[in-house]
Amino acid sequence: MAQYDFIVIGSGPSGRRAAIQAAKLGKSVLVVEGRKRVGGVSVHTGTIPSKTLRETALNLSGWRERGFYGRSYRVKKEIGSEDLSMRLGKTLEHEVDVLEHQFLRNGVHTMEGFARFQDEHRLIVTSPDGSELLVEGERILIAVGTVPFRPDNIDFDDECILDSDEVVDMPRLPRSITVVGAGVIGIEYATIFSALDVQVTIIEPRETFLDFIDREILDEFVHQLRDRGVTFRLGAPVVSVEKVGSKVVTKTGDGRTVRTDMLLYCAGRMGATEHLGLDACGLGTDGRGRLKVDPDTFQTEVPHVYATGDVIGFPSLASTSMEQGRIAACHAFGLPLPPAPAYFPYGIYAVPEISTVGMSEQEVRDKKINYECGIARMRETSRGHIMGLDQGMMKMIFSIKTRRLLGVHILGEGATELIHIGQAVLNLKGTVDYFIENTFNYPTLAEAYKIAALDAWNRMPRD
Ligand SMILES: Cc1cc2nc3c(=O)[nH]c(=O)nc-3n(C[C@H](O)[C@H](O)[C@H](O)COP(=O)(O)OP(=O)(O)OC[C@H]3O[C@@H](n4cnc5c(N)ncnc54)[C@H](O)[C@@H]3O)c2cc1C
Repeated sequence: MAQYDFIVIGSGPSGRRAAIQAAKLGKSVLVVEGRKRVGGVSVHTGTIPSKTLRETALNLSGWRERGFYGRSYRVKKEIGSEDLSMRLGKTLEHEVDVLEHQFLRNGVHTMEGFARFQDEHRLIVTSPDGSELLVEGERILIAVGTVPFRPDNIDFDDECILDSDEVVDMPRLPRSITVVGAGVIGIEYATIFSALDVQVTIIEPRETFLDFIDREILDEFVHQLRDRGVTFRLGAPVVSVEKVGSKVVTKTGDGRTVRTDMLLYCAGRMGATEHLGLDACGLGTDGRGRLKVDPDTFQTEVPHVYATGDVIGFPSLASTSMEQGRIAACHAFGLPLPPAPAYFPYGIYAVPEISTVGMSEQEVRDKKINYECGIARMRETSRGHIMGLDQGMMKMIFSIKTRRLLGVHILGEGATELIHIGQAVLNLKGTVDYFIENTFNYPTLAEAYKIAALDAWNRMPRD
């Protein structure tokens, strides 16, 4: 039986980062991955495919040029699913290559097969040909991620009724689509389809969505989507989904019906723990298959078994999963850890992008902090003019008492990149003066920071 210092189950962002960190500490490491190739949900069905699809859609549709050439401007008139999948294939191939090389360079062993616990230290790995192998780990990391939640009353068919893992292999581009679930994934796909001129209806059982986003930014976002013809059906759950002829007919709890060519179900994901044999190592999960961990060390209740990434729930991002993996591996092998930064950014790769770091205006108010806001419109920057941006905004929030930056919220082109300037200033406890006193490259969209900071500064008391 092969023995390792560290066995990682799952090769997504958190498993990968943990494995490489442990290998760098001189430990023997095995990564067991159920898929044919390494990379996890992030590389094969989630982050990378959806962002590649978005980039392809924006390029082929001429989206970024429409500010200049008008709403009817298109780079390619007829866009098919083959146009979308071509770029996807190349990107994924490259990503997997980089990962495999990373594992090789760092001496991390990989094994294809599904792992399940035999006891607290041993795992049975079932390979694709059905054979079983026993491996033993001094420490074990569960980084198995999630699978889409698929309710029993919906007949997923790989063709017209898809979940968020299947949409990347979508057989054809529909003319109309219903997206169930207005979470990050649902909203991203809904807006990508809308940029491709697909008629989109979003159904969300709750009256509100993306509640962690600053209200002013979200209002502007929703306004832009409605202006593009996206329909929102909020406040009523889906009660039935049926295929009738070439249409998918969706009925909602308020007695309304939506008929579209395709339905994409994006209402939640479950921890991929069902077949892990967690009982055998003394662990259990919550109702969504998620594991509970110590938030500082990522240890489960069984101290040598760690869990990171989406399987432990919020915030379920590739970016944060990687950091969790690194921390878990460092803790497992006794490396001291600096305290985690107070704020990390969120990126929603919708069309248009949203990105945010720090507190929203609602949160600042709830904490009864005296604050002032500054707003910049991207069209106020020279770079924005050059790019033909007629939409997009940045909102900054400052404490009146300390002058410190409390939050940055961006909507529009480049938001997910621009946010990192705000993140740095926020985590380094910078104030409004940083933005007023420093020189920014010109022309850039980052100039919006100066404009928004000046806007707030103009309204802040002088002493
Ligand atoms: C559509 C979509 C878009 C997203 N976009 C973004 C984004 O833009 N930015 C961002 O930061 N995050 C994004 N995410 C979230 C991101 O993909 C996840 O946070 C991240 O993949 C979680 O990483 P993980 O380490 O938990 O493992 P995962 O990536 O979930 O991978 C887990 C791996 O474990 C394997 N596995 C499961 N069970 C076993 C077993 N028993 N034995 C062996 N192997 C097993 C699985 O096959 C899988 O490969 C997106 C997710 C989705 C679905």
